[in-house]
Amino acid sequence: MSHPEHCIFCKIAAGAIPSRKVHEDDELFAFHDIHPWAPVHFMIIPKMHIPSMAQAGPEHAALLGRMLVLAPRLALEQGCAAYPEGGFRIVLNTGAAGGQEVHHLHMHVMGGPRPWLKG
Ligand code: AMP
Ligand code: ZN
Repeated sequence: MSHPEHCIFCKIAAGAIPSRKVHEDDELFAFHDIHPWAPVHFMIIPKMHIPSMAQAGPEHAALLGRMLVLAPRLALEQGCAAYPEGGFRIVLNTGAAGGQEVHHLHMHVMGGPRPWLKG
């Protein structure tokens, strides 16, 4: 499991590794996935290093709520069609069994016209 000093998503949130930024505020950062599965595919991450949803506790409820509430706004801005015909998919891979490769909590937001590469 990545220590924050070696964490690629901590570095992206800090601007130390370049990314295609979608959104930034005091607590959250959003950027396009480097290997998109769908025409729209970006990730929302907390700037704070939380390894995964397995470490999320009541103290993170507001932060996680802000991530969820930000997703629909950014999805529309990034070109997802409107609900109900349009919409998007939110994925939070957690742990090896959940398909998590980067151990800094991240919310995938995917959408756009099908077919998609995956999902
Ligand atoms: P997961 O399998 O849920 O841990 O997803 C990690 C995601 O991070 C994958 O979809 C990768 O394509 C993406 N990713 C890894 N490195 C970068 C990077 N430097 N910039 C943008 N996306 C990345
Ligand atoms: Zn991190």
